Amino acid sequence: MQAQLVRPTVVAGSPGEAGQHARDNVPDVMPSPAAYSGAPAISVVVPLYNEEESIAHLRQQLTEALEQSGYSFEMIIVDDGSRDRSFAMLRDWALVDPRVTVVRFRRNFGQTAAFSAGFNQARGEVVVTMDADLQNDPLDIPKLMAKIEEGYDIVSGWRKDRQDRFLDRKLPSMLANRLISNVTDVRLHDYGCSLKAYRRDVLQHVRLYGELHRFIPALASQVGGAVTEVPVNHRSRQFGRSKYGISRTIRVMLDLITVWFLGAYSTRPIHVFGAFGLLSAFGGVLAGLYLTYHKLILGESIGQRPLLLLAVLLVVIGVQLITMGLLGEMVTRTYHESQDKPIYIVREVVSSANR
Ligand code: UDP
Ligand code: MG
Repeated sequence: MQAQLVRPTVVAGSPGEAGQHARDNVPDVMPSPAAYSGAPAISVVVPLYNEEESIAHLRQQLTEALEQSGYSFEMIIVDDGSRDRSFAMLRDWALVDPRVTVVRFRRNFGQTAAFSAGFNQARGEVVVTMDADLQNDPLDIPKLMAKIEEGYDIVSGWRKDRQDRFLDRKLPSMLANRLISNVTDVRLHDYGCSLKAYRRDVLQHVRLYGELHRFIPALASQVGGAVTEVPVNHRSRQFGRSKYGISRTIRVMLDLITVWFLGAYSTRPIHVFGAFGLLSAFGGVLAGLYLTYHKLILGESIGQRPLLLLAVLLVVIGVQLITMGLLGEMVTRTYHESQDKPIYIVREVVSSANR
């Protein structure tokens, strides 16, 4: 094992064979050495909420695994407003080990916010995330790193042999993974696995809200990252309780709609609202013309016909949808132009001219 992370020289096509997004043939630009000087190769980010029983084990297993891996590393533990002794224990750890940074939230903001805070602190070239309850095995980190060195930007763990209950954990998750894979077109077996590795430069373009941490691979792929997965070890929870229940499924579905919409239409909302709007209005106008023909040419009474109600409804909904699309277009412009945020992400610019 090498002591320093080596930037992979990307072999054309190699990640594409196994992954979804082949990187193109252009080799990566080497980052300026200064960008990473003094920075560790890996930043491990661990969100933690009321896990006092696990901390001692986490401390030991994570440190050992990282030391064995040979990479330089830092550990960023985000205490998500724990109300037990977790923070006191983490502080003791941070005070004796300079490789540990503990970020303490004022209250419980949730796992997504904790990841986000960890990413903001991270200095490493690669960010690895995992759970504090040790259901993930830190000894798998080198496996993820091997894929990163192959040239992937995101490596997702796949709990092939997941140690959770079937009915309320594994089954919903299986269905959700299928659905998310189909909708986002980033095919992974296990979106829910926390053990993942990301190249930090890709992560910089990913903004997290709600409970979007599960969708980071899809979001990162939307900004041009190459995604793959590797099977990882999974263990049952030894201490404490899971912080989630079955209600999470509904939130995952709603988040999926957000990810799909923002991924495909965030810079052109009129295309989705407008399409439905036009369809609806067109149907309404057709029904209206049909009724008009019956009234004016055939002289029938149309006042009692349900179709009249439908025609009016379709036109009104159509107009509303188109208006919503136009409002969306204005919001998009405000979002991008107020922060000078381009609607694209450049990987590199090549020119021999003196610009
Ligand atoms: N967690 C967190 N904030 C929360 C809920 C959970 O930081 O509001 C942490 C928790 O301490 C653990 C990880 O997120 O390290 C995953 O949570 P959990 O093990 O309860 O989820 P499960 O493995 O059951 O899906
Ligand atoms: Mg867990």
